[in-house]
Amino acid sequence: DPARFTQVDPFTWRIEPTGAMRVPAIIYADEALIQGMDEKVHLQASNVASLPGIVGASYAMPDAHWGYGFPIGGVAAFDADHGGIVSAGGVGFDISCGVRTMLTGIPVEDLKRVAHGLAQALYRDIPAGVGSESTISLDDIEMDDMLRGGARWAVDRGWGEERDLERIEENGRMAGARPEFVSNRAKERQRREMGTLGSGNHYLEVQAIDEIYDPEAARIFGLQVGEVVVTIHCGSRGLGHQIGSDFLLEMVGAAKEAGIILPDKELACAPINSDAGRRYIGAMRAGINCALANREILGHFTRRIFRHFFPGNELMLLFDVSHNTCKVEEHEVDGRLRSLHVHRKGATRALGPGHPDLPDALKAVGQPVLIGGSMGTNSYVLAGLATSEEKSFSSACHGAGRALSRHAAAKQWGGRQVVEELARRGIIICSPSMRGVAEEAPGAYKDVGAVVVAAEKAGLARRVAKLSPLVCIKG
Ligand code: 5GP
Ligand code: MN
Ligand code: MN
Repeated sequence: DPARFTQVDPFTWRIEPTGAMRVPAIIYADEALIQGMDEKVHLQASNVASLPGIVGASYAMPDAHWGYGFPIGGVAAFDADHGGIVSAGGVGFDISCGVRTMLTGIPVEDLKRVAHGLAQALYRDIPAGVGSESTISLDDIEMDDMLRGGARWAVDRGWGEERDLERIEENGRMAGARPEFVSNRAKERQRREMGTLGSGNHYLEVQAIDEIYDPEAARIFGLQVGEVVVTIHCGSRGLGHQIGSDFLLEMVGAAKEAGIILPDKELACAPINSDAGRRYIGAMRAGINCALANREILGHFTRRIFRHFFPGNELMLLFDVSHNTCKVEEHEVDGRLRSLHVHRKGATRALGPGHPDLPDALKAVGQPVLIGGSMGTNSYVLAGLATSEEKSFSSACHGAGRALSRHAAAKQWGGRQVVEELARRGIIICSPSMRGVAEEAPGAYKDVGAVVVAAEKAGLARRVAKLSPLVCIKG
């Protein structure tokens, strides 16, 4: 019920705690985005606010939409010393799903000359779609090494470059991963899935840089109007999904055992300081490493294919950032530094300038925040703002966010129709699933331009560059 909102400023909306809520719910959006946001987001953000140990507020980003238990576009931080919880549904099923953008330095005109051949080569060599298999197969020992080593492991195996690592969250390797807490079923599902894109919303997109908003930040990021970048969006594949499913079930019991009253069963969680909580965190960190390794391998394949068309091309990694995680971070709350378990589900970490975790080359500007739009609209590169620390535990939106469900989109558009319409605009789409393309039709997403402006005005991250799609390999 929107009447419950108080408007704090043009881009901040607040629901005061009532009933079981321990903290307020805060949504960052403009008036139109708030009006269009499905009501479930308000309810879900308020439900999250009732979970034990939550600190500050339960946040929703401007791209928020309904999710499993927690909204997608939700941020919530918990304090282990105050009964704080960890939730599999608060991380999301695709653990560490995320985005990387690589710089090519290739002029758009040169790319266009080979676009069809390049699209075919990418589509042929990068496994996409449900059940697609990789040429890489891991035995039990390699599996555990991968789960401990992340992108570092991939680089050591020759599927990536050493210098990429500092441009990946956690320097490419999430510490504290515990492969022994990942089920055999999860590992089995992953055995032949390293270096695969997956299905649905996951993509590899060749994009043109159309516009620069902040020339100094763009220079430091290496972004120039008229040049091409490659963006890869995918996560931890079958392994992450299985970890999520395994622990979701277990957490229903764990919450009950801990005496936690859940307003919604989908909010299943366990105290951070409990056996189930500790095992989930160890397994989830292994899932993070799987996603980091997977994107590093996909980046490596992409380089190989690009070098065939553009010999000697470097494809420098701008950044690789996840948007489905729970991470232990230090944040200042009411003047006191606290160690918190920050859940970001469909929300991007967005460190502001000067943050110690940033590589030196990026310290002056802040972290690149990579925002997908859709295969037919713009995407954006933003930079973290110092103000996001206090606004959202240094987080920002992760995309445009869905305006229509997959089902509603598939009813409204046909896959072929979408591909043909985009072809007329010079955008090449390759996908094994026309149903998937229909579900992902550009019209199914919110206005990404409005979302990033809201993020900027709310003080979460600022716009650096606008991108447009040239070639999209869709899962
Ligand atoms: P999610 O991680 O929630 O599945 O998706 C993240 C965001 O990616 C979505 O909110 C949407 O805005 C964006 N997105 C989905 N499909 C595409 C695509 O094919 N290309 C681009 N550039 N963005 C997409
Ligand atoms: Mn994602
Ligand atoms: Mn995903």
